[in-house]
Amino acid sequence: MIASDKPSSVPGTELRLAGIPASPGVVSGRLAIFSHEELRVRPTPIQESQIPDELRRLEAALLKTREQIQGIKDHLARSLGDGQTEIFEAHLLVAADSTIAAAVRRQLELRKVCVEHVYQHVIHAYAQSMKEMEDPYLRERAADIMDVGRRVVYNLLGRKLADLYSLDSPSIILAHDLTPSDTALLNRQLALGFATEVGSTTSHTAIMARSLNIPAVVGLHSVLSKCDLGAPVILDGYAGLLIVYPTEQTRYEYGQIEKRRLAVEQSLEVLRDTPATTKDGRRLVLSANVELPEDLPLIAESGAEGIGLYRTEFLFLNRVQFPSEEEQTNIYQQVVQASRPHLAIIRTLDLGGDKLPSHQGLDPEANPFLGWRAIRYCLEKPDLFKTQLRAICRSNPGGKVRVMFPMIATREELVAALALLGEAREELKAADIPAATEVEAGAMIEVPSAAMIVDRLAPLVQFFSIGTNDLTQYTLAADRTNERVASLYQPTHPAVLMFIQRVVQAAHKHGIWVGVCGEMAGDVLMTPVLLGLGVDEMSMGSVAVPRVKKAVQSLDYAECQAVAARLLEMDSGEESRKILVELAQRAYPELVS
Ligand code: PEP
Ligand code: MG
Repeated sequence: MIASDKPSSVPGTELRLAGIPASPGVVSGRLAIFSHEELRVRPTPIQESQIPDELRRLEAALLKTREQIQGIKDHLARSLGDGQTEIFEAHLLVAADSTIAAAVRRQLELRKVCVEHVYQHVIHAYAQSMKEMEDPYLRERAADIMDVGRRVVYNLLGRKLADLYSLDSPSIILAHDLTPSDTALLNRQLALGFATEVGSTTSHTAIMARSLNIPAVVGLHSVLSKCDLGAPVILDGYAGLLIVYPTEQTRYEYGQIEKRRLAVEQSLEVLRDTPATTKDGRRLVLSANVELPEDLPLIAESGAEGIGLYRTEFLFLNRVQFPSEEEQTNIYQQVVQASRPHLAIIRTLDLGGDKLPSHQGLDPEANPFLGWRAIRYCLEKPDLFKTQLRAICRSNPGGKVRVMFPMIATREELVAALALLGEAREELKAADIPAATEVEAGAMIEVPSAAMIVDRLAPLVQFFSIGTNDLTQYTLAADRTNERVASLYQPTHPAVLMFIQRVVQAAHKHGIWVGVCGEMAGDVLMTPVLLGLGVDEMSMGSVAVPRVKKAVQSLDYAECQAVAARLLEMDSGEESRKILVELAQRAYPELVS
């Protein structure tokens, strides 16, 4: 009935598949295969007398679908709040739609082929007519119809659809790709690790895995065709391996590795309340990157000094309506609260690139990372932007807040963003709404043009934060999510290091501080060079804080400055990396072995 079934790995024979290590750790478990792929169902002929049975099967599948959607909705309401469940309200309506059911019945009687084919056909026709509607709201509902249709067809076929949000047992998730919208809906208790066919170390799947402290391997080409749902595997996030049907010997070896990792993690717990100061007295601020409100409790546990990057766009994904000013204020207040006694840097919306709101009807772009992203999007939607800015200002009434603008490429953008921030503050004042009395504004430096004109941006802001994830991709013209160019994507490339040096020097000349909030900041191999280049703050997933603190405490600032100067003279990122590996192996071998 299904057009193509996939060949699988052979039980009893170990198969090692190599990808790119994206989040450290080792985990063993069973595979849950997550797919947006649609099953193509052939039109198998049926007899007239079978129609009532086919309709009963459809009724049962629709019931099951509604139960599944209700389960997801309840789970999300508990974990993320009601705001995240609107899409599933819409899905429930589609699964109960009597017009679709009537159309299926008519088609069954007319064509006399199996109900899964008929249902799929009807759903496609509906989604297509929705896509052609004038009303953007109705156009956007086409995606809901397709999602529900896919779920119903899986249920009709008795196939298990591995949903990130309706996993029923702890599993290692295997997918072609996991979008930020997918991972935001994840049932975190049950996801043991991620393995994807595409992606690289700074794609958001990898960032999310690191913040969840679960292993991830990306760039595992064609792995879906080699693995079965439910197959036992070991995922090695250090070496970037997915081992299917591992032998007893392999399991034993990996058990030993995991024991060593846990021992190192435990040994770092005592550092929590100590400052991140080098052996020769250079003090650094280590703060946390946060994607979802659920991550907030981890901050205090990790010993991070506040939040250096709160990625607000995760609040805007998977929604029919964007969050209101009240809802945002409420969440930003929680963010500010979790950072106390330190401050939180709330970054304004960075939608676009690989973080696309699935339900806002944005047309796909040919080059989303070069397109309508982040500040470009916000400046064209001043109402939406000011709603967010007002909510940020309201997050700490009578106190201080920090706000940061992503993807600044020109001085005009920064000036325009600051003007809207000023307007937002004025509006709050005029309406007598309690708000922060002091607002520090910062610019992310992650586009080469901003790094070049940084001396013209510095007088406008109170701090800079270098987004090395994007700065690396834009400097080397290497898409951060594309595993095919992953070898070109080198944060240690002299061009990237020169930009960082330039930004630090300009910031200090203008008397403002500068941090790094890209993934480089959480990588202990990079600690010496960032330290040596003179950054004041590093912000990373909470899980990395104890490790980076240990690295900082094991280093000499003077030596790091010499190393940074040497790396700036290198011909390639590869040479620099080798030097950094040697240094890490000497200064803190337990963190890199
Ligand atoms: C960066 O680009 O380094 C950054 C921190 O922002 P994001 O990863 O969200 O693009
Ligand atoms: Mg960025």
